[in-house]
Order: sequence, then structure tokens, then C-alpha cells
Amino acid sequence: MIYFDHNATTPMSTIAIDSMTKLCKSHNAFNASSVHFAGRNARVLLDKARQSILYNLDADDDYHLIFTSGATEANNLVHNVDLPRVCSAIEHGSVLKTNPQYVVPVNREGIVDIDALEKTLNALNTKCLVSIQYANNETGVIQDIRSISELCRKYGAIFHSDITQAVGKIPCSVAELGCDAVSISAHKFGGGYGAGALIARKGIDIKPLMFGGGQELRYRPGTQNLPGAVCMSVAMERVASNLERYQEVAKLRDVIENELTSFCEDAIVFSKNAKRLPNTLCIGMPNVKNEVQVIYFDMNGFAVSAGAACSSGVLGLPHVQLSMGYDEEVANTSIRVSLGAQNTEEEVMKFIKCWKKLYNEQNGK
Ligand code: PMP
Repeated sequence: MIYFDHNATTPMSTIAIDSMTKLCKSHNAFNASSVHFAGRNARVLLDKARQSILYNLDADDDYHLIFTSGATEANNLVHNVDLPRVCSAIEHGSVLKTNPQYVVPVNREGIVDIDALEKTLNALNTKCLVSIQYANNETGVIQDIRSISELCRKYGAIFHSDITQAVGKIPCSVAELGCDAVSISAHKFGGGYGAGALIARKGIDIKPLMFGGGQELRYRPGTQNLPGAVCMSVAMERVASNLERYQEVAKLRDVIENELTSFCEDAIVFSKNAKRLPNTLCIGMPNVKNEVQVIYFDMNGFAVSAGAACSSGVLGLPHVQLSMGYDEEVANTSIRVSLGAQNTEEEVMKFIKCWKKLYNEQNGK
């Protein structure tokens, strides 16, 4: 199998697996709330992981980190505030489905309309939460987070960014981006499953979604996932040194893009002219539904995804492409190819061959 679906999840890194194994085998993964020595030891490990993640994301003492089950929960949590909420039209479902009152459009390339955001903030004229992702999971489009955070500061808005897809692929510094809060998810950068975090400036008035014990400053009660937190921090420590590899990944992505668009002039590359994640290609195959493509590629040994697949494997509306102004028919021809650090040129060439074969078959050539 050739795995080209790293934006869905990426395999655990060896060091994360090793740290998980070591921790579990040492029988030290106890309850960090227990008062005895085993609990205290667990708390030390948990807080070490917490500090390490904050350090690696360049978030200083003004921030705290709340461990969650992933980015869905982190996004849900930060949106649980008693403030008007603003987001972009291409946010992940875990933001959009909290029903923010104001949704800012994007242009044809998927770039957030900053003028529209400013108009919204101006008209609102009150403190609010603005939530705009750093990189999009479908197209890979990267937003100008620095300009957006400056704008939010000018209007006194709290600025949250879902940086889930960016971590591990491009540099992520909370300080440089100027965010008041960010969401991350370990399984997107090799840190394992069921672990994530909301990193937020201290003092933001977020309400918990769950009730029970006093863990995570009461923002997230329940016994912490210690192995998950440790794996996430260990994987995060490696992220910076792996970024260079992504320049090579970008070259492979460009090979697919250039080969397919020169073979088929009508193939649409979504967000082609925008700054994108190095590993992501969202491409439409003219006249061929994405579900047909995904099944065909699957049968030929390639794992790719049709953008809007949700957890049940059912295709939803392609809201990202629709927001970019494409009609549903065109949007439904798009698949997402998301490469990882281990993919090779040989794999890429096989995929190109397979794509061309399907295109010819379906278009009677
Ligand atoms: N935000 C973005 C941009 C994502 O791509 C995803 C995962 N598809 C999530 C949030 C949700 O992350 P998790 O799977 O950790 O809940």
C-alpha cells in the first residue's frame, strides 16, 4: 500500500513509539492526580511534557496548556466562551459546527478575506473570539496569520488559530504568529492517537465542556492520558529538525502536480496560486467523481482521500471548495493527496501513471 493521506493521520514516529513502550513497561504511567509517590511521579512526567510542548511551540509563561483528546476537543473548548465568535468559511467542522455567529469568506484561492474580517470586527465593536486556521486540511492553503493576529489585536479581539495541520510541516511559533490560543493534535505529527491540546493565554474566560475532577485547571476534568501526552511531547521535540525533509516532500508534490496538469490541462489544482503546505495537493480530475477516484486508487494500492469524507466514511458537502466559489460538480471531482516524510519518487511516479490511466478510461481516451 502506498499511503498518501498524511493529513488524515500520520504514522507514529519511532521515538514516540519507543517512549510509549518505555513508559508503559516501566509501570510509571499512573494517575497524575494521586497524592502518593506514583502519582507524583506521573505528575512530573505530565508537566515535563506540558513544558516541552509549550517550549517547542514558542509559547511563554503567559500561556497554559490544557491536554485534550485532540484538536476537535481543543477547538470545541476554545469556542465555549461567552463572546461573539468569528471564523472563516473553511475552518474544520470542529469549529464550524460550534456555529460561530460570523463567518468570513475566502477568495477563489482559499485565502481569508482580511478586509471582510476587518469590517466584521468594526461592525461588532465589542470583544469577540476570532478563530482562523493556519493551514487548511483539504487544500493546504496557508493563511497570513501574523496579519490576522495584528488586526485582532487592533480591535481587542481574542485570536485563536487551529494549527493542527501546520505542526510538523511548517514552522509554528505561537509568539511569531501572535496567537492568543492554538489547537494541536498529536496524530497529525507522529505523536500518537487520542491526544491533543489547547494552548491559551492565561486569563481567557473559557468554560469547561466536562465536569468532574479538578484536572487541567478544571478546564478539562478526567484522568489525563499520560502516555499520550508524553508521546506528543517527544514527537514535537523532533518536529523542527524534520522540517527540512518537507522541502523534499514539496518537490515530490510538485512532480505530481506538474505531471498531471501538463497531461491534462483541465485538471484543477485548488489553491494553486496560494502559499500551501509542502505536502498537500488537492486536484480535480475532470468528469470523474471523487468517490470513483478514491475507490479506484484504493483498489490499485493508493490511500488518498476525497476532501469532505467525514468519520463515517460518507462524503459530505465539499464546503472548502464551495466556499472558494467552485460549483458542487467541480468540487466533487477533487481528491486530496497528502504526502509524508517517508514517501518516495518511485511511489509518486506509480501514482501519476495510475491517475493518467483512470483519466483516460473515464474520458474514453
Ligand atoms: N482541525 C483540522 C484543521 C484538522 O485537519 C483536524 C483533523 N482532520 C482537526 C481539527 C481534528 O483533529 P482531531 O482528529 O485531533 O480531533
